[in-house]
Amino acid sequence: MSTTEPTWYYENFEHSGSAIGFRVTGKLDEVQSEFQKIEIWDTTDWGKLMVIDGAIMLTTRDNFLYHEMMAHPVLFTHSNPKRVVIIGGGDCGTLREVLKHKEVEHAVQVDIDEQVTRMAEKYFPELCESNHDPRAELLFDDGIAYMKNVAEGTVDVIIVDSTDPVGPAEGLFNEAFYVSCIRALRNGGILVQQSESPLVHIGLMKAMRHHMTAAGFADTRTLPFPQPCYPTGWWSCTLARKGSELAGFRERGAQSKSFATRYYNVDVHRAALVQPEFMREAFGD
Ligand code: SAM
Repeated sequence: MSTTEPTWYYENFEHSGSAIGFRVTGKLDEVQSEFQKIEIWDTTDWGKLMVIDGAIMLTTRDNFLYHEMMAHPVLFTHSNPKRVVIIGGGDCGTLREVLKHKEVEHAVQVDIDEQVTRMAEKYFPELCESNHDPRAELLFDDGIAYMKNVAEGTVDVIIVDSTDPVGPAEGLFNEAFYVSCIRALRNGGILVQQSESPLVHIGLMKAMRHHMTAAGFADTRTLPFPQPCYPTGWWSCTLARKGSELAGFRERGAQSKSFATRYYNVDVHRAALVQPEFMREAFGD
């Protein structure tokens, strides 16, 4: 569909009885891959919009919130993150943020669907600007199968930047997957996973944290942050550490970071660790 008159693109969230909409001027592209339908829309105020199977993934205007919060809190919590695995993240925005950390020696992005990356290269080239960094490796494979085969104790940080827990991403939210992750991590290694909206998915977050603990992770912590294009406009990531508690982060490193960010800074990180009352109650933190 190509329109000249702006119209509205809505994603309705049956689960929460709400919707999010963007004013769009037309659909720029659509691909039905082996795994999912990927659409790209042009908006009047938010740049490009990527939608997968009807679920809004990102916009040009607000993706920095999500990508920075998926990368920097975990990398400034780990004492020396050298080897990073990103599961999903096919738009390459998280990879770009990870590679801003000079101590990272290798970052592999494992997305099941090559078409997501091809669409990102075309419509979100700014997110793909680090894809040719010699430390970057892009694989197109199922993250569940990939993690089962990673050599034991070889990874410092795993970032699960997946779609919602339906379809190909369903198996990224259960105990069996977390068992593969904990096996792959070195002692002190950290997993971080996008964990949906605190406002409407608290049950899912509790289940995730329960599965992480059952798999053997020593400690879990959920960090909320704003994300206007996702259900309720409020999102989160959950960290789980192998072998020891998630006590604080490298505040001096975050304070004197050598790269630019638009959302993340040391105070934002501190604030994200503060739990609202209802989350404290749910998680017992
Ligand atoms: N975080 C965004 C969100 O919550 O809407 C999603 C960004 S990213 C585009 C999500 C990626 O996860 C997609 O590219 C999808 O192909 C990938 N994905 C889903 N299931 C996967 C799996 N089992 N293994 C690897 N990648 C997977």
